Amino acid sequence: MRIVEVKTYVLEHVLDEQFQSSTMTFDRRQHCVVEVVCDDGTSGWGECLGPAMPNQAMVRFYAAHLIGMSPMDTEVVWAKLYGTSRDQGQRGLAMTALSGIDVALWDIKGQHLGVSVATLLGGRFRESVQAYATGGFHRVGTDRVEDTAIEVAGHVANGFQAVKIKIGFDPVEDIAVIAAVRSALGPSVELMIDANHGYDVLEAIEVGKAAADYDVRWFEEPVIPEHLGAYRKVRAGQPIAVAGGETWHGRYGFREAFEAEAVDIAQPDICGAGGFSECRRIAELATLYGVRVVPHVWGTAIQIAASLQFLASLPVAPDRHAPRAPIFEFDRTPNPFRQAIASQPFEVVDGVLAIPDRPGLGIEINRDALEQYRIA
Ligand SMILES: [Mg+2]
Repeated sequence: MRIVEVKTYVLEHVLDEQFQSSTMTFDRRQHCVVEVVCDDGTSGWGECLGPAMPNQAMVRFYAAHLIGMSPMDTEVVWAKLYGTSRDQGQRGLAMTALSGIDVALWDIKGQHLGVSVATLLGGRFRESVQAYATGGFHRVGTDRVEDTAIEVAGHVANGFQAVKIKIGFDPVEDIAVIAAVRSALGPSVELMIDANHGYDVLEAIEVGKAAADYDVRWFEEPVIPEHLGAYRKVRAGQPIAVAGGETWHGRYGFREAFEAEAVDIAQPDICGAGGFSECRRIAELATLYGVRVVPHVWGTAIQIAASLQFLASLPVAPDRHAPRAPIFEFDRTPNPFRQAIASQPFEVVDGVLAIPDRPGLGIEINRDALEQYRIA
């Protein structure tokens, strides 16, 4: 079996209502999907985290190296493509594009062998996973305190037992949001906060100390991701567990963070940090430093499927009669093509998502929907 074509699909939906994190304004949803086609007619699907058009350009650059290679040789392909970006840094778009291709190759490999990607990665520790709702963005034109509290109550009504909200806008207002959200959630629903690197060190410590009164499970991206020393100060200066990693790439990027003792929880993105091939190495590395792994997820059904396969393969750590299970990030912001491009949507039932055990990623792509949202 040989690779004969690499296709890209830039999908777009222009939003009726803009929403904001602390650092970005979303007026549209755009994602770059990758299809790797083989000479026997098999197609594998992947997706690239980050700006869709530049990812498409980078995938097209890699594509020339891929034609004629075996999709079963995931490590050989990965090493070859990774080598092509060595002189330019092996981070950013070089890695997000490589991730999309790598995910597609593992999908092909699983289809060819008739097993799920999780089985290829060593086996399935679990068949389902608890999902947390990611939301709490600022809907432009609304009162953040009131609007976020109403939104999270909706997630709980839909069965979620854990939610993550956005902070990092303004320390005083952010604490008011956290207080209102905790009040709306009640005491038993888990709450995580994500600053998207909107604070400096002193602000992050101040917010972390105040937020601790509201029982927060983790404090994500408190400070800019390139400043690992700042992360370490935030960890030391306030009581909430610190999470981060959605902007870090490859095992070397995560090793720097682990050596700097930057985080309690690492959040590699399967479609950004290097695909299955590299994320399994990052997960191994995390065990050596005593860091938990909770993948970052922000994409379509392809990324949801890939992340679920990865989560299925994460070992119990540590083993015990009732081991702590990983948790899955389920984006609840508006994106009509997120689920539409898969023939069967992923459904959260009582806060839990089933992990497909069909071959490869375990999903079937709806090509009509793919074309409906395609702009490039
Ligand atoms: Mg985040």
